[in-house]
Amino acid sequence: MYKAKAWAAPSANAQLAPTTIERREPTAHDVQIEILFCGICHSDLHTARNEWHNTVYPCVPGHEIVGKVTKVGSAVTRFKTGDLAGVGCLVDSDRTCPECKDHHENFCPNMVMTYNSPDEHTGKVTYGGYSQSVVVDENFVLRIPANLDLAGAAPLLCAGITTYSPLRHWGVTEGKKVGVVGLGGLGHMGVKIADALGAHVVVFSGSPGKKDDALRLGADEVVITKDAGEMQKHAGSFDFILDTVSADHDINADLQLLRRDGNLTLVGAPPTPLAVAAFPLIFARRSLSGSLIGGIKETQEMLDFCGQHNITADVEVIPIQKLNEAYERMLRSDVKYRFSIDMASLKA
Ligand SMILES: [Zn+2]
Ligand SMILES: [Zn+2]
Repeated sequence: MYKAKAWAAPSANAQLAPTTIERREPTAHDVQIEILFCGICHSDLHTARNEWHNTVYPCVPGHEIVGKVTKVGSAVTRFKTGDLAGVGCLVDSDRTCPECKDHHENFCPNMVMTYNSPDEHTGKVTYGGYSQSVVVDENFVLRIPANLDLAGAAPLLCAGITTYSPLRHWGVTEGKKVGVVGLGGLGHMGVKIADALGAHVVVFSGSPGKKDDALRLGADEVVITKDAGEMQKHAGSFDFILDTVSADHDINADLQLLRRDGNLTLVGAPPTPLAVAAFPLIFARRSLSGSLIGGIKETQEMLDFCGQHNITADVEVIPIQKLNEAYERMLRSDVKYRFSIDMASLKA
């Protein structure tokens, strides 16, 4: 074991604060990564504040990790010291179940999340990216394309794959009409990726103020959801809709926008059940589904795709000392569109 600087939530009601954690020394298959940037995801805040009722304290969140390899185990073949490396939401899985065999580790019943999961190496829980370094099995470490800005690349590890995976699964390609509901951390990535896939992208937003930004990010059209006439114009015309809204909203109005056999996928998680009417689904054989991040193979595919298209998240880079303030601002949607922590600040 060795000691690493980190920021942790000591309890559900306390602010995050500097601390020291123990990491394992790299074993034969492990890669040790010095963390350069870590994005801030809404899940970090939910977990730090025990809003999902399963947090073990101290809690070190962070699963949008980008850094440099500083040490590799004797059996590691895919990485060497000095390489750029990324770690997303997963750091291990059982590797034997049907999901793992099918490269869907993200659906493995025994997946080990990057933070707040039981850690068989330490006997405690896993600690995430708000930290100096991390040690991860090479099979769960991603390559980061060298041309990408590292601060903006970090959020690809969660927000990027969360939007890329359903867009690909539901066959979004050139010529498809794609809706993106909500323009926050997830939504802005969905727009960029759908645009790069060649789709005709329409952003649905509750706030007229986001129109210029949506167009700049790659949207072809912007519809203000309160405008019933505008909504009606698009009825029955979408191949696919990515719904990124994490608050309660009128899902039936969105379902009506789909054409026959169209699909709406939820990637936001409203805390209360959505009221889904059967008729919009029945009348055009539409479907409603959900999606959770992506497997390791697909995450690498997404990073390579983003490298080819030079896609990164729009980030506001902050020192880690601004973490608690960033959480409050994230709750007010006062960020365009993701915070990325410059881990050099951890040394200050
Ligand atoms: Zn996340
Ligand atoms: Zn598995």
